[in-house]
Amino acid sequence: MDRVVLKDLNLEELKDFVTSIGLEPYRAKQIAQWIYKKRVSDFDSMTNISKATRKLLSEKAAIDVLKTVKVEESADGTRKYLFELPDGNRIESVFIPEKGWNTLCVSTQVGCPAGCKFCLTAKDGFTRSLTPAEIVDQYIQVQRDVGEERRISNVVFMGMGEPLLNFDNVKKAVEIMTHRDMLDLSKRKITISTVGIVPGIERMARELNRVKLAVSLHATTDEVREKIVPLNRKYPIGEIFRALRRYPADNVRRIMIEYVMLKDVNDSLEDARRLVGLVRGIPVKVNLIPFNPYPGSSFEPTPREKIEAFQKVLWDHNIAAFIRESRGQDISAACGMLRTKEKLSA
Ligand code: SF4
Repeated sequence: MDRVVLKDLNLEELKDFVTSIGLEPYRAKQIAQWIYKKRVSDFDSMTNISKATRKLLSEKAAIDVLKTVKVEESADGTRKYLFELPDGNRIESVFIPEKGWNTLCVSTQVGCPAGCKFCLTAKDGFTRSLTPAEIVDQYIQVQRDVGEERRISNVVFMGMGEPLLNFDNVKKAVEIMTHRDMLDLSKRKITISTVGIVPGIERMARELNRVKLAVSLHATTDEVREKIVPLNRKYPIGEIFRALRRYPADNVRRIMIEYVMLKDVNDSLEDARRLVGLVRGIPVKVNLIPFNPYPGSSFEPTPREKIEAFQKVLWDHNIAAFIRESRGQDISAACGMLRTKEKLSA
């Protein structure tokens, strides 16, 4: 019989599992403590559980699912992890230390089906979605590696993959990350980034509404957006903004609009003015992302002065707009640069 992967289970399911193998329900919390608070990787470390029970657990269940293949550290302290999944596929995660907090960027799929034209991850195509355990284990493996004194306080679902095309598993991972007896992160410290999957945004509004939403917009007309974000044909800008207008956001939980600045594609002042019109009345924060060029890419980065002029148009209309400083660029850990194939990630 295949062993049950415990990091796939929320607390209720963990209770069901322990009782199904003849243990008392309180064991679930005890096991969760060892896995999520003490971050152990084997049952033998669970010293307040009897030897016989530990043996039973190791026959019926498994804890870790990821194997660390490689860790690279950037000059700015950003660490990029290449993990191997049980089926041999590979994913990447990025640890970003900041002043006063630490962020982890997790992947949700092997490759990505969205196929955004400027994105290096998309070049590997799409293999499959990750399980909840494969998402949660990115957090635990990285936390073990960086040490408890550098606690990961924020998680962004912005690595490889489109999270809202793997909604159920992402939702379960968020449940495990935010449960008091599990990873105990605040929902407000979790951000899910989507390219604009409208049914997924609607489900987030109903089922995960305290989690932060980020929308990768990248263009202000359907004509331009279709060229860089093919999924725009299915979910055009008008439909995305209809969903955002209904989204339960406020000034504390603003929706983040991600906008990668591509030279002469989406970076005109007219684009900035159109963006003002699109977000009017919605509590948003706009992140302008300088494009990271890579060999063979057909896009170029917008010059800094032009990004600043774009930002000024937004500011002049009282829209919070920031230029995101790219982290980990020297190790290809920056946005849209994660890959499944190690040899291509240099
Ligand atoms: S930018 Fe994000 S959604 Fe688009 S292809 Fe890359 S990983 Fe997928």
